[in-house]
Amino acid sequence: MNYTYSPPLIIKKIFNDFQWDSTNNKILLTFDDGPTKEATEIILTILSQYGIKAAFFCVGNNVEKNQPLAKEIFDEGHLIGNHTFNHKRLTKISNTDAVEEIASFNSLLKDKFNYEVKYFRPPHGRFTISTQGILEKKNMRCVMWSLLTEDYKNNFETVKFAVKNYLKKNSIVVLHDSIKSKDIINNSINFIVDEVAKKGYTFGDPAECLK
Ligand SMILES: [Zn+2]
Repeated sequence: MNYTYSPPLIIKKIFNDFQWDSTNNKILLTFDDGPTKEATEIILTILSQYGIKAAFFCVGNNVEKNQPLAKEIFDEGHLIGNHTFNHKRLTKISNTDAVEEIASFNSLLKDKFNYEVKYFRPPHGRFTISTQGILEKKNMRCVMWSLLTEDYKNNFETVKFAVKNYLKKNSIVVLHDSIKSKDIINNSINFIVDEVAKKGYTFGDPAECLK
């Protein structure tokens, strides 16, 4: 599956067990790949200034390396989702390995934070026909997105283009908690907040947007 900015309707229809848009007609910001020393603090500070709660789809080995940052994400009232332990493409590993990538992340969060992980997002947006079955067994839901900002290209103009053209009232927006996007993350969030206000949309809390 590869698409620019917004996934096609046909994909959403085929994989309709996955969540592509928010369920409450509000905008959900999501941050993939963290927590990182480079970006997490920047993101938490600006979200707190705006009073926005977001979902962080973290990578297990980053959580392990940066536990205080993961704790801060929780303390600020955000949600943490599973983005595998090692950020491996599910299309490139066996089913057994995929199960292990997901399970080891959940175990880490349970051990360190006594937290039950409910949501999953596949690295690079790549999933297989087995992904839904694996998640169902673990009582988890796959959260995709309706707006990919491509912030990882580190070009603010690209983010502006994506948001201007594809932001809807129920968008699940993907940004990154990583070194790749850290230089434009503040501008990107500011721009999204302005566009949301201009269009009369509102931000929602992850728990409500993903109900
Ligand atoms: Zn990722």
